[in-house]
Amino acid sequence: MPAFSQHIVSRRGFCLCCMAATTVAASGGWLTPQQAFAEARGIVDLIRDGAAKAPIRVHKLRDNISILEGSGGNIAVLTGADGKVFVDAGITASRPRILEAANGLSHDPVTHLINTHWHFDHTDGNQWLNAEGAAIIAHENTHKHLLVAQRVEDWDFNFPSSALAAVPTDTFSSEKTMKLNGSTLHLKYYSPAHTDSDISVAIAEADIFHCADTYWNGIYPFIDYSTGGYIDGMINATDANVAAVTDKTIVIPGHGNPVSNKAELSAYRDMLVTIRDNVANLKQQGRSLEETIAAKPTAAFDAKWGQFLITPALFTRLVYEGV
Ligand SMILES: [Zn+2]
Repeated sequence: MPAFSQHIVSRRGFCLCCMAATTVAASGGWLTPQQAFAEARGIVDLIRDGAAKAPIRVHKLRDNISILEGSGGNIAVLTGADGKVFVDAGITASRPRILEAANGLSHDPVTHLINTHWHFDHTDGNQWLNAEGAAIIAHENTHKHLLVAQRVEDWDFNFPSSALAAVPTDTFSSEKTMKLNGSTLHLKYYSPAHTDSDISVAIAEADIFHCADTYWNGIYPFIDYSTGGYIDGMINATDANVAAVTDKTIVIPGHGNPVSNKAELSAYRDMLVTIRDNVANLKQQGRSLEETIAAKPTAAFDAKWGQFLITPALFTRLVYEGV
């Protein structure tokens, strides 16, 4: 295997050859639960290493709103006289490339950072963005999780508590509306879905809707049972997302191709529901996790959704855990 610096980082920010090496090539596309656990352990390091090298790609959406792609979750940036508003912070190692990309949009200072949930690939950059001048806004459970050490069982990873400068100071429990740079931002709590801290961010005038990590565009999603996520919560959140948008809305996923739409979001919902039902049927028949994975309940979707980060076996296990 070549050194990491020679690896090809995909447009989704994941290293394609590591993905191939750890999933399809090693297993023929299918992993035993033990292999899936071992693979999951590498995800945090893989995302961090990928962000340390990946270029930041800028996608201009509408009006003064853009997406920065290549550092953990997709980062939305709203520019204007009130200062830059970031939705998610990415990985700290990307700081110089994120600043360069953001300064290419405008030279306003960063004044606000909204965290869509507590996960490291959305909050790792909180401290440096706060040092730049950003007040941090998030759901109260994001505040709670960042204040103390967290363990994500499925990543076999312990995250230390965050520095105080990285902890959100402006929190809410249900909904919050902000008027910034001529836009109305509606922040809304989902109830537990991907974690117990997920919020959507709707930008009304531009008709843009950020789904946080309740939506992974073209990739099986991770579901964090350690901090309250579960498959039916993901489906409930996705139903809410579909209901909240129209055919004209630009839909931003937490991961995957950052410019999406209602049709792709609906296909994602159908995938989640079908796989949930397939896995639930197998579990109700008394199949063990190993037997359920062997029955390939995701097979019809793997060519499209199973090629990055969360493999068919890993996703089957995440669904099995919650049905
Ligand atoms: Zn997440």
